[in-house]
Amino acid sequence: MSTTIQKVRGRQFFANPGPTNIPDSVLRALDRPSIDFNDPEFVPVYDEAFAGVKRVLQTSQHVFMYNASGHGAWEASLTNLLSPGDTILVIESGYFSVEWAAMARSHGLDVQVLQADWRHGADMAALRTMLAADTAHAIRAVCVVHNETATGMMLPLPEIRAALDATGHPALFLVDTISSLGSLDFRMDEWKIDCVVGGSQKGLMLPTGLSFTGVSDKGMAAHQDAKLKRFYFDWTMMGKRAQKSFIGTIPVNIFYGLRESVRLLDEEGLPNVFARHTRLAEATRRAVQVWAGNNGPRLYCTNPSRYSDSVTAILMPEGYDAEAVRRVARMRFNVSLGGGLGVLGGKIFRIGHLGDLNEPMVLGALSAVEMALRIAGVPHGRGGVDAAMDFLAG
Ligand SMILES: *Cc1c(COP(=O)(O)O)cnc(C)c1O
Repeated sequence: MSTTIQKVRGRQFFANPGPTNIPDSVLRALDRPSIDFNDPEFVPVYDEAFAGVKRVLQTSQHVFMYNASGHGAWEASLTNLLSPGDTILVIESGYFSVEWAAMARSHGLDVQVLQADWRHGADMAALRTMLAADTAHAIRAVCVVHNETATGMMLPLPEIRAALDATGHPALFLVDTISSLGSLDFRMDEWKIDCVVGGSQKGLMLPTGLSFTGVSDKGMAAHQDAKLKRFYFDWTMMGKRAQKSFIGTIPVNIFYGLRESVRLLDEEGLPNVFARHTRLAEATRRAVQVWAGNNGPRLYCTNPSRYSDSVTAILMPEGYDAEAVRRVARMRFNVSLGGGLGVLGGKIFRIGHLGDLNEPMVLGALSAVEMALRIAGVPHGRGGVDAAMDFLAG
């Protein structure tokens, strides 16, 4: 197959689960000259963007921001809340839960894992049993990836909160919401989440590079005793700076973009944003379910109550390479799909359907995938895009 990219006109269809499409109005907001971050013209931009992030997090508590991708906010969440030797419980969901756990171990934390089948998801009864067995309350924090971007699975945060409450367990509740915030229903205060990890380049439709943590009052109290080493990410030090939530040079352009992206989310209304993601995700799943005929590619997630509405992972039939499908989609049709991460490399591909997307954009990506399956000689059921259209027009 030719590896030269056709010089086609039109936009690249970006069906990657992060980064995501940047809306035109956000691109325009970003496009401006430098300004001093203490300038009276910039300060209200910062404040409005900041207030917008709190609305999207659905919190009235604390938020701290970093010039870093999501990994930085992960590091902030662990180092600000925990001390060397502390035990934490990570609920396994896939690549991102494994990486967060690896980061915790590298900081000297004792990591317990609630193991789970990546296709079916963690068992909430097993979580309750584990929490109930910890009568000494050694587990200081429970860490959960709300939406496992690597496998296309959503974890039920209210059920996890309920397991903590039912067992009377005082552990801090830490949630990675990087690929769910601004796409899936998420309520920091209502679900009593103590630390939320978020990033700019997924549901917030911005370039990569800004990440943040929402922190509860309980989290701030735990922070007072947390002895892990930190400097740039230190919340106490941030509290002493003018902005109370940021150390170092503020990325002013990103804040202009952030103010616009939260305005877009406000304008559409979060319930409508979530409903749109559910609709586009269901259309994608309908297409995949048709492709699964004839021993074709199928949904990686086998548990319908855990389907992710922001990304769908698709498992290739035995003996077929997901990278070949991605290559055809990219080279022939200028469609960018997500690949398999870590051990799932070559075995799955992922269609991101989060952020600035509508029906024809998703149908365009699905059409390209269906054509790529044909061209790459992958067996599949024909008519997946029809099924998606039937659903969307229904
Ligand atoms: C993208 C992602 C990350 C990593 O974020 P970076 O910005 O790439 O550092 C972590 N967790 C989840 C769930 C993600 O989707």
